[in-house]
Amino acid sequence: MENAGNFYIDGKWVAPQAGKDFAVIDPSTEETAATISLGGQADTDAAVAAAKAAFGTWQQSSKAERLELMQSILDVYIRRSDEMGSLISTEMGAPIAMSKTQQSGTGSYHIKAFIDALKDFEFETALRPGDEDTRIIKEPIGVCALITPWNWPMNQITLKVLPALATGCTMVLKPSEQSPLSAILFTEIMHEAGVPAGVYNMLNGDGPGVGSQLSAHKDVDMVSFTGSTRAGRAITIAAAETIKRVSLELGGKGANLVFADADPKAVKQGIIRCFNNTGQSCNAPTRMLVERSRYDEAVEQAREAAEATSVNAASEEGRHIGPLVSEVQFNKVQDLIQKGIDEGAKLVAGGTGRPDGLNRGFFVRPTVFADCTNDMTVMREEIFGPVLSMMPFDSEEEAIAIANDTDYGLTNYIQTGDDERARRVARALRSGMVDINGKGRGAGAPFGGMKQSGNGREGGEWGLDEFVEVKAVGGWPVA
Ligand code: NAD
Repeated sequence: MENAGNFYIDGKWVAPQAGKDFAVIDPSTEETAATISLGGQADTDAAVAAAKAAFGTWQQSSKAERLELMQSILDVYIRRSDEMGSLISTEMGAPIAMSKTQQSGTGSYHIKAFIDALKDFEFETALRPGDEDTRIIKEPIGVCALITPWNWPMNQITLKVLPALATGCTMVLKPSEQSPLSAILFTEIMHEAGVPAGVYNMLNGDGPGVGSQLSAHKDVDMVSFTGSTRAGRAITIAAAETIKRVSLELGGKGANLVFADADPKAVKQGIIRCFNNTGQSCNAPTRMLVERSRYDEAVEQAREAAEATSVNAASEEGRHIGPLVSEVQFNKVQDLIQKGIDEGAKLVAGGTGRPDGLNRGFFVRPTVFADCTNDMTVMREEIFGPVLSMMPFDSEEEAIAIANDTDYGLTNYIQTGDDERARRVARALRSGMVDINGKGRGAGAPFGGMKQSGNGREGGEWGLDEFVEVKAVGGWPVA
């Protein structure tokens, strides 16, 4: 890849000033797929300076100019969407068919949704009817550092870059060092689409390097971060000195509440959802709580579904799950599966080690634990692998209490045929999102969590609001 070792600063691809080589490993083969550069302080300073210099002009751009640029980004993105799917598949191991549809598709989906959201977004309004001389003005917050993870790389990048652009901010993107290739292609798309020099800059780097340099930087006005709760905490601490805004989208441990009157296919669908992207989704339903009268049957269905889940290389066509992203994640998931066994959860499917026939690559066995208790590590920690933990419940109150007894609060799931209960339980769950009977949320709905799942909301008008300062002006001359 031509620009693999370079950064994009002030509208140009440039060689790093303080770079060190980093190998991007294809997780299916454990071979080096590309070598990138991790930047240092001089690179961070150059990118932030370019974004700061461009802010004066870009903040004055009109809604029409921004919409035209966003449409141009969408057009180029769609043209290069297949290429995007291939790169994501290589760098983080999503199976090629899934990567070209779901992974790459999230990018065009969000770009389009932000075009629609910006059309309707009001940057200036009266405080309320009758108070026209108090004007509320939403202004871009300034220079934004956008720090993203590897698991849904284009989802995360477009959920940050597009609203930052749309509100008149300038930015420095630091993608995950595990998934830099898709970010380099995204940057080529931005360049081709005609983003003005300095408005969008991209640096590769790791957390302790460019990540913390951006978080602590005095000329960065906001950090928008998606990733682990551990890194979210470190960023918040680094950002505190300069009182910059920090928007966090962190981990999750979603509960899937299966009531006795649920659709017969609910358990199988829950497993498919949990294992999608090899279990590497912050909003995966990883704790399945089943009403006792259907529990034994559900455990059997989960076993069958896990055993029917095939695992194969990301480059193979077909419906299977791929490897985990890295050796670090592989070892972490192995340890957590072992912990589940040691702490007394009943292993129903899978277990430690690689699936039969796969001796190389970071592949793990689709695993189901039953008869868990909510104090077990497999019920409390985000595993980020194809591992489902099940436990029974006896009443609606107990199901809600178990679901809410977690440090996280991102997405919970309800399966029931009773509409009144669905509404009641959805209101009682402490999470930023709830999905009822497998129905997704509409485009532009806010994505984000409560508790240690973070404080940000991405998507739609809420996603735009994250990137603005709100100014209140009294004595506004009314025409
Ligand atoms: P990670 O926290 O290790 O890394 C995420 C990004 O942060 C990377 O770019 C990394 O280089 C950077 N980083 C790491 N430490 C840093 C530090 N101290 N300062 C600044 N930057 C730092 O997470 P990951 O392993 O890439 O991604 C998986 C995690 O992301 C999971 O916990 C998952 O739940 C979470 N996630 C959350 C959402 C959401 O919207 N809530 C979406 C996707 C993923």
